[in-house]
Amino acid sequence: MDLNSLRSPLAFLQSRLPEISQSNVLEAEQAWWKNEGIAISDAIDRAGTPWLRMFDRLGKRVDEIRRPLEYQTILKRGYRAGVVWRALEEKSLIPTYLLMYAISYYDPGICCPYTVSLGTAVPLAKYGSAELQARFLPQLLRKDDSVWQGATWMTEIKGGSDLGAAVETIARPAGDRWLLTGEKYFTSNAGAELAVVAARPEGVAPGVRGLALFLVPRYRENGELNYFIRRLKDKIATRSVPTGEVELKVSEGYLLGSVDSGIYLILEVLNLSRVANSVVSVALAQRAMADALSYAAQRAAFGKPILDHPLLRHQFETRLNALRSAFALAWESVQLLNDVWMERAPYSDRYHLFRLVAHLAKYWTAEFAVDTAKWAMEVHGGLGVLAEYGVERWQREAMILAIWEGTSHRQILDGLEVMERKRAHQLLFRRLAEIAPAKELQEMESEVEQHLKLRTEEREALAEPLFRRLAIFTAETLARKSK
Ligand SMILES: Cc1cc2nc3c(=O)[nH]c(=O)nc-3n(C[C@H](O)[C@H](O)[C@H](O)COP(=O)(O)OP(=O)(O)OC[C@H]3O[C@@H](n4cnc5c(N)ncnc54)[C@H](O)[C@@H]3O)c2cc1C
Repeated sequence: MDLNSLRSPLAFLQSRLPEISQSNVLEAEQAWWKNEGIAISDAIDRAGTPWLRMFDRLGKRVDEIRRPLEYQTILKRGYRAGVVWRALEEKSLIPTYLLMYAISYYDPGICCPYTVSLGTAVPLAKYGSAELQARFLPQLLRKDDSVWQGATWMTEIKGGSDLGAAVETIARPAGDRWLLTGEKYFTSNAGAELAVVAARPEGVAPGVRGLALFLVPRYRENGELNYFIRRLKDKIATRSVPTGEVELKVSEGYLLGSVDSGIYLILEVLNLSRVANSVVSVALAQRAMADALSYAAQRAAFGKPILDHPLLRHQFETRLNALRSAFALAWESVQLLNDVWMERAPYSDRYHLFRLVAHLAKYWTAEFAVDTAKWAMEVHGGLGVLAEYGVERWQREAMILAIWEGTSHRQILDGLEVMERKRAHQLLFRRLAEIAPAKELQEMESEVEQHLKLRTEEREALAEPLFRRLAIFTAETLARKSK
């Protein structure tokens, strides 16, 4: 088996997809990252993390995120290449996720700002009033370094899994806008010019159905700060991204959609980021394998390169197959999302199918990334744990991918819900029927149906092995039809 496609994100994409519309753009990104980007990303991971300047010299609150100039270089490059503007201009998410794959092979963290900027531009384009769009959308779609960034802030101190219970930020109507008060506990891309924020309009029902989504600019209409950054968090990975805590103090916000449709909008934003997470997870796994490959080809033990020992070569080959399957699953979520991202509630069956595939993909690709990053460290032996050689970074980055955008538990439980309520597994099995061997498909189908008949407590308690099998089965089946 030829392992060489592991060495380049574009080569791997070309080996998996029948055509790539903008391969010249991806080629340019890949060449730049190899020559310049890797060194910048590596330096920032160690030393160049952003910091917060809260006051100017005269004591005025400014809450500026300070970061190395080189970070701006890598960050703005992706925006210029089109991670956000292409989606809306070309009315397709494919170019965005292709770019994310190519870039995150070199730096998985940098795709966080891109994802949350996309997660701001899309709901604004879809649900914002004409006036709101005219005021804010062009800045998010600029093709030069003056482009604005977005952010998606839902999580509060009481937790991110159960937003219905945990979101205490209140929104009060005030003429053509709303005034938001509350605290957001995990705010990636703090300092962004615009954020979409989950809040509860005053007086509405408790729970998740009482949430609404608001567009919150960094500055008020009179030019003053509209939100305040309390601090930045010191994280194990995505270290170039300023993730902070944000205080909303009677902050100006603009309602997206209607007051009672917020949860749908929030989930639509999460759809974009969960699919991004899946793409990034596979790219990270590829990168970890590529690093392991280059070491294994050079390191000798028992008279030959360790790569040439049967056990290790076999591990490389089976893992390359697993990588291809994980990619097929992630890419299926991209393609389905590309079909349904402009839908509004009530959604089609295709949307429910997408939701199930997205939960399977977010869950499985992140688990695979964590496992592959651990294995890549092992291939490096003792050197794997040394910060100076970099392979340990993929383990740190992978752990974040498994947790944010909804932990693996959340994906499993939400996946069960969409199967139970919308019968999404039947849509999935219908889709896989042309490719999967009939007997295997039948067995999987009956396993899922049996599971859904269990009492609630047992159904949840025993869900992980079933969900894992379903994810792997789906991934492997989809990989058969890839070239
Ligand atoms: C680096 C980083 C950046 C982030 N950036 C953002 C951001 O920009 N915007 C944003 O909104 N959020 C952000 N988050 C927050 C992230 O989305 C949450 O961490 C995540 O959703 C989980 O929420 P939590 O950490 O509060 O865990 P909790 O919700 O408190 O959950 C704790 C544990 O309990 C498990 N659990 C919860 N309910 C159940 C259940 N019913 N059954 C079984 N297990 C359960 C969870 O899976 C988890 O393992 C970020 C997180 C990180 C790490």
